[in-house]
Amino acid sequence: MALIVQKYGGTSVGTVERIQQVAKKIIKHQQAGDDLVIVVSAMSGETNRLVALANELNDRPRGRELDVLLSTGEQVTIALLCMALQQQGINASSFTGSQVRILTDNTHNKARIMEIDDNKIRSALANGHVVVVAGFQGCDKDGNITTLGRGGSDTTAVALAAALKADECQIYTDVDGVYTTDPRVVPEARRLNQVTYEEMLEMASLGAKVLQIRSVEFARNYNVPLRVLSSFIEGGGTLITAEDPTMEKAVISGIAFNRDEAKLTVLGVPDHPGIATQILGPIAKENIEVDMIIQNTGYEGTTDFTFTVHRNDYDSALKVLQKTAESLNAREVTGDNKITKVSVIGVGMRSHAGIANTMFETLANENINISMISTSEIKISVVVDEKYLELAVRSLHTAFNLEKA
Ligand code: ASP
Ligand code: MG
Repeated sequence: MALIVQKYGGTSVGTVERIQQVAKKIIKHQQAGDDLVIVVSAMSGETNRLVALANELNDRPRGRELDVLLSTGEQVTIALLCMALQQQGINASSFTGSQVRILTDNTHNKARIMEIDDNKIRSALANGHVVVVAGFQGCDKDGNITTLGRGGSDTTAVALAAALKADECQIYTDVDGVYTTDPRVVPEARRLNQVTYEEMLEMASLGAKVLQIRSVEFARNYNVPLRVLSSFIEGGGTLITAEDPTMEKAVISGIAFNRDEAKLTVLGVPDHPGIATQILGPIAKENIEVDMIIQNTGYEGTTDFTFTVHRNDYDSALKVLQKTAESLNAREVTGDNKITKVSVIGVGMRSHAGIANTMFETLANENINISMISTSEIKISVVVDEKYLELAVRSLHTAFNLEKA
């Protein structure tokens, strides 16, 4: 008999009918003999509605009260789901985060889980109950209600699976798995049966918005097998696990991209120790996240320095950089907020030479100019003009044979 933690997202419990469907699914799993702990999100749109209500009354609601408010969304769904199960004759018990005692720190609105008490869950399971736990919430050591940040129910599910040493943590959502790339850009994109935590982290941070990134980090740290599946379509979904050395792996697992990038360059800065921090320090102070960074080889005592930021931060980054450039006596500041980043990702890259070259050759054949390149052990990213994004992704998808199983 297996112990499975299942998480159902907001769309999966968005209406009474859908809650009934989820209940049916749960009953099927229970009949197969598994012990089940279910984590649910608020009904779709509910958390946004609560945030909007708060903002109508206060432009900066206090974190503590915001958490009292936001946690109600999930409290509604745990009760409703249990009622739907009980209506079918199934024993089910609902628990809020503080009832379980999902102990968090006291950082309201983005609290971190410190400890989970598994006593009540274990005894409910031993009594043959389906256990239904509210996602996204916990309480601090003084009993204040806390929430884990938007999308936090994924993290609740993984944390529970880790604490209970569950056999698998299944995330039911509105997509049926993780794809080789966005099917809206490449219709031939294929669902992956399996990816590693590392690959998923690269894909998630690059815009494959399937799972909260934090939940994947958590799963990796505690080695929780994580599966993404559709609530609506039958299928095996995508299993996310540690790298299995006995498995033959694809060289490239997927192609991620990020549309909303911008780059900034300062030309002709004096090339002396400390310029990187002098340029990026003021940017960090404005809380602007920097992604790629390139510094050229110096020439005649000066150098050029380029970095990328999220497009929303472009204007403020440009202002900051212009000030810095003046104080450093740099020649010129230039920028471009119509760029995108395309990355090929795969753990198999470690043992295969020539991946970068295949990527560059493919883009060259399409006449796509690369303006920046960065690499890590399992990823190669390039910056290209946004008008070539679709073409770049499609041609790379073909070049790396990703449509074939
Ligand atoms: N209901 C919360 C949100 O909308 C948490 C979650 O759904 O994971 O962000
Ligand atoms: Mg979600």
